[in-house]
Amino acid sequence: MFNLIFPGNQTADESKRQPPDTQAEREDDGSPEEYVARSGFTGRGSDQISFSSGDKLLVHAKPSSEWWWAELRGVIGYVPAGYLSQDAAEEEEEEEEEEEDPWQDDEYFGSYSTLRLHLEMLSDKSRTEAYRQVILSNCASLRNKVVMDLGCGTGIISLFCAQLAQPSVVYAVEASSMAEYTRQLVKQNGCEEVVTVLQGRAEEIELPEQVDVLVSEWMGNCLLFEFMVESVLLARDRWLKEGGVIWPSSAALTLVPCQADSYYAEKMAFWERPYGLDFTPLQPLAQQEFFTKPKFSHLIEPNDCLTAPCDVLNLDMYTLQVQDLEEIKGQFHFCVDKPGVFHGFTAWFTVHFESLETGGATVELNTGPNSEPTHWKQTLFMLDRPVSVYAGDSISGTIVLRRNPVWRRHMTVTLHWNINSCTEDTDNCQVGTKSFPMWR
Ligand code: SAH
Repeated sequence: MFNLIFPGNQTADESKRQPPDTQAEREDDGSPEEYVARSGFTGRGSDQISFSSGDKLLVHAKPSSEWWWAELRGVIGYVPAGYLSQDAAEEEEEEEEEEEDPWQDDEYFGSYSTLRLHLEMLSDKSRTEAYRQVILSNCASLRNKVVMDLGCGTGIISLFCAQLAQPSVVYAVEASSMAEYTRQLVKQNGCEEVVTVLQGRAEEIELPEQVDVLVSEWMGNCLLFEFMVESVLLARDRWLKEGGVIWPSSAALTLVPCQADSYYAEKMAFWERPYGLDFTPLQPLAQQEFFTKPKFSHLIEPNDCLTAPCDVLNLDMYTLQVQDLEEIKGQFHFCVDKPGVFHGFTAWFTVHFESLETGGATVELNTGPNSEPTHWKQTLFMLDRPVSVYAGDSISGTIVLRRNPVWRRHMTVTLHWNINSCTEDTDNCQVGTKSFPMWR
């Protein structure tokens, strides 16, 4: 799947925040509006405020679509707009006018109806060849099997199945209107006897039978973003035969503490002395604007890894449950193997496809820095302040992926870390914690 950024959601780079007194969207009469928190939020830094679910906040200004200037019990600061809604009565009124879809399916499937994302995915050789390899290396076992390709897009995986193996049928399910073209592609390639394209959401589609193999390319940034995995789990429970196979069969998220010198220089150190002037008062704003959200599409050099990477999550696609996705926790313990500057953490994922043949080789798609780059690249989580580390130091802590309770395709990644230093001249232990919304 493509690392889609929903239209209308801003990336950290695009999220231009203005001070409240130059706000763009102040109410005409200038009086604050009351909002209710739909869920709790923990503010960071001195300019964000924390609140609990159900708290009533007064919104004074809406300097950007994402961050509002609000007041709670006399404390004033920035709050994430997506966590607030107007009071129940007003909300109902609004909903009558235009109901907001927590899955944003119109935007989501709308973007898969165009070629931009499919071009990006199909041009990603490591990704596409991994699926081809899975089918090729299992072609004997796929004979006469019933396959479901969930979210078939242009139908590439279904076409590989029909071309390289002899399944009895492949149900190619696609919710976006790309399905109309997929039908043509199936015909054009002479696969219409085997591949049946079904247009609709996998959750709503009816198949004439259960399937032996459920294959899907559902992975998003940081593995779970967009949460298409939920559709795969629901299809598994409804359509996969007892003893059937899911591809990918397991997935892991990997993390590494890293340097990010050039990104730091470009976004933060820049303000130190541009044109011989001291622009450092802009640094807190730069931190807010560029380091609040993770940086997608980061390509980490193997050399920028300060330690060996570590798998922080392992998901078994046979046992994973939809409710498990609400909050997933992992732990890490890294040993720094060379001196450097700890700017942040980089994350990537790997998925495995088990073999249908006893003793057959597992196929792996690894999106990390030691493999061929994929269109997902890696995801960088910048700390607010870089920390010097030395060989022998250890960095341990936890990662929590918390799904947004309202916006079902979004999540917040919270990292908590302890640096245990082995040198005498620095603090013995430094602790940090930071939450990164992706994107709401
Ligand atoms: N399998 C294709 C496309 C992968 S991208 C390939 O490998 O190139 C994921 C695709 O799944 C998108 O086309 C998207 O529209 C579709 N999709 C996502 N959720 C879906 C759902 N619940 N039901 C049907 N299609 C879905």
